[in-house]
Amino acid sequence: MRPIHIFGGGLAGCEAAWQITRAGFDCVLFEMRPVQPTPAHKTDRLAELVCSNSLKSESENTAPWLLKEELRRLDSLLLHAAQQARVPGGHALTVDREVFASEITRAIEENPRIELRREEATSILEDAIAIIATGPLTSGALAREIGRITGAERLFFYDSISPIVEADSIDLSIAFRASRYGKSLDGTDDYINCPLDREQYERFIDAILAAEAVPSHIPEDNARFFEACLPIEELARRGRETLRFGPMKPMGLIDPRTGRRSYAVVQLRQENLRADSYNLVGFQNHMRFPEQARVFRLIPGLERAQFLRYGQIHRNTYINAPALLTPTLQLRAHHQIFFAGQISGVEGYVESIATGLISGRHAAELASCAEIRAFPRETALGSLCAYVSGADTRSYQPANITFDLLPALDEATRLQFRHDKKARHAEVCRRALEKLDEYRSVYA
Ligand SMILES: Cc1cc2nc3c(=O)[nH]c(=O)nc-3n(C[C@H](O)[C@H](O)[C@H](O)COP(=O)(O)OP(=O)(O)OC[C@H]3O[C@@H](n4cnc5c(N)ncnc54)[C@H](O)[C@@H]3O)c2cc1C
Repeated sequence: MRPIHIFGGGLAGCEAAWQITRAGFDCVLFEMRPVQPTPAHKTDRLAELVCSNSLKSESENTAPWLLKEELRRLDSLLLHAAQQARVPGGHALTVDREVFASEITRAIEENPRIELRREEATSILEDAIAIIATGPLTSGALAREIGRITGAERLFFYDSISPIVEADSIDLSIAFRASRYGKSLDGTDDYINCPLDREQYERFIDAILAAEAVPSHIPEDNARFFEACLPIEELARRGRETLRFGPMKPMGLIDPRTGRRSYAVVQLRQENLRADSYNLVGFQNHMRFPEQARVFRLIPGLERAQFLRYGQIHRNTYINAPALLTPTLQLRAHHQIFFAGQISGVEGYVESIATGLISGRHAAELASCAEIRAFPRETALGSLCAYVSGADTRSYQPANITFDLLPALDEATRLQFRHDKKARHAEVCRRALEKLDEYRSVYA
C-alpha cells in the first residue's frame, strides 16, 4: 500500500502523521525547513510555535479547554508533548517552545512508520492520499499548485485582526449604542460607541506610541500591501490626528449624556449572534497582548474590558474552505486530498492540531477502505469541521474555537440555565464530551 503523503511538518502535519501511524499506516512527511525557510519560523524543528507559547486556556468548561480535552481523549501527540513541556502560565496551557518542538521532532524521527523528507513539496498527485498542512506561510510553488487543484485564484491574505471584548465587560453607563448618522441596516443602534474628550484622546495616543510592539514577521516587500489594514500604532505615528480622521472619527455620533459630538469615538461592532462579544472596529495592531489590554483599558467604557481576542496582523494562506471541503476535510473534487491546519481555514495553534488529528484519522480510514465517520456535531472537533465546510463562502475568515461554533442547547436546557452563563457552558462541554466518548467507543 502506498504511504500517505503529508505536506508540512508543522502543528497539523505532525499530528496527522502521528494519527496515521497509530492507525497502522505508513506516511511520508515533507517539511521544507531548513532547506527553505519561512518568514516566521526560526529553527529546523518540526511543530515550531511561531509566536506566542500559549495553547490557550485550561480553565475547565471554556471552549479552548474543551478542544484540548477532546484532543487528549484521542491520544494527541502534540497535546502529550505540551504536557511534557508545560511551564507555569496561570490558567493557560503554556509551554517551553524548545522542549515542545524537540519532543515532537524526536517522536516523529523515531517512528519507523514515518519517512521524514526535508524538501519543499511542489506538486500534488491527484490519485494518492495526501494531507496538505503547509500552514499560513505555504511556499509559493505549492500555493500555485493548490490554486491549480482547487481552481482558486488567490490564496494569500493579510490577516488584520481587531481585538474582541466580552459584551458584559463594557461599561454602558459611559459607552452608548448608536449607528453613525442613525443609519442602521435593521433600524437598531448597531454599534456600541466609546466617547473620548480631547484630554482622554491625547493620553490614549501617547500610550499607543509608547506601547511595546511584537517583533514583525512581515517581510519589508509586503509593506505596500498593508496600506489597507495599517496597524493603529502606525496610523498614530503618521500624525496625532490621523486616528481621529480614521477609525476614531466622531462624526455622526451624538453622545446622549452630553447631547454633543465627542472629540473622538471608538466603535465596537457586535461579533456574534448572541451579542456577547464585540470587536473594536479598525483596531488591528502589532502591540504585545499585555500592552493591548493596558492601552485599550484607557478607553472610556473599556476600563474593565475582558479581552476574548487581541489584535494581530500577519500573512495568512488559506483556502476558501466552505466552497471546497467536506465536513471530513476532504476536497470535494478530489476525495483523496485532505486539508489541515491553518491553510484549511482554522485559526490558532490548537485548532491547527485539531484539524491535523481529524485529517490524519480520516486519511487512515480512507486508506483502510472503511467508512469515513465525521466527528459528532456537538463536539468542538465536529464544530470546527462544520464551520470550515459550512460557513458563508463570500466572507470566509478562519476561526478560533468559541462557543459560537458549537450548536446551541435545546430550548428547555437553555431556559434552565438562562441566568447562568457558566452553567450553560459547562452543559455544552458535558454534552460534547459525552458525544465524543460515544464516538470513541465505536471508533477508538
Ligand atoms: C506570524 C504568525 C504568528 C502567529 N501567531 C500565533 C499565535 O501566537 N497563537 C496562535 O494560536 N496562532 C498563531 N498563528 C496562527 C497559526 O496557529 C500558526 O501559524 C500555526 O503554526 C499553524 O499551524 P499549521 O500546522 O497549519 O502550520 P505551521 O505550523 O506553520 O506548519 C506548516 C509547515 O509547513 C512547512 N511548509 C510550507 N510550505 C511547504 C512546502 N511547500 N513543502 C514542505 N513544507 C512546507 C513550513 O515550513 C511549516 O513547518 C500565527 C501565524 C503566523 C503566520
